[in-house]
Amino acid sequence: MSSHLMNADPQLIEDLVAAYRILAQHGVLDGFGHVSARHNRAANRFIMSRALAPQLVTAKDLIEFDLDGNPVDAQGLPLYLERFIHAEIYRARPDVGAVVHSHAPSLVAFGVTTVPLRPVCHMASFIGRAVPIFDIRNSFGLTDMLVSDSAKGRALAEALGNSSVVLMRGHGVAVVGKTIPMVVGRSIYLDLNAKIQQQALALGGTINYLDPQEAQKMVDAGENRSYERPWELWKAKALEQ
Ligand SMILES: [Zn+2]
Repeated sequence: MSSHLMNADPQLIEDLVAAYRILAQHGVLDGFGHVSARHNRAANRFIMSRALAPQLVTAKDLIEFDLDGNPVDAQGLPLYLERFIHAEIYRARPDVGAVVHSHAPSLVAFGVTTVPLRPVCHMASFIGRAVPIFDIRNSFGLTDMLVSDSAKGRALAEALGNSSVVLMRGHGVAVVGKTIPMVVGRSIYLDLNAKIQQQALALGGTINYLDPQEAQKMVDAGENRSYERPWELWKAKALEQ
């Protein structure tokens, strides 16, 4: 572990490394994308990997950042260009403890169509009534599409609002949660829901979506028991040799 992370909870570090691998193993992250966690000792700091393919991340690759996206001690390591997604969401949302940014193809599809992403299975009840879509073009014109500075991160965090998910037009998605298991579980079931919805749409006919009240009751009941059961399984598989 890097020396500047000595104050971080070892459990948090282990879970964060597992999160990178779990999301890679589920095809939510590929060579790109990242996950972060708010620092357990400082609400204005967060931890994420140096620029690295998610499947390869280990504890020694983790770096601490402030909410301007500046590394506390990067030791000259290359950084993710889109770390501002995480920084500005942590600034805007004190309730958020972990953030995932992915380019999952199933979700890119819903960011470019007028067909809204909606919950079709109970495991994705956290989607709620509607998912906001962030279009970088609205505030910044024609860009390289990357959320590569604080202003763009702020605009994304604004689009997210109080939701658990924000789609990014032509790019991907940002998912938030209170804990690492929660943001990982949400990312996996969000991808699954998007795939099921696309399959149901392809079948034709009328889709019988979850009623918003059904979705709310599921969330009120503890949202998939905080993903504790699958988390144990995913983590064991991700960290085995
Ligand atoms: Zn991206």
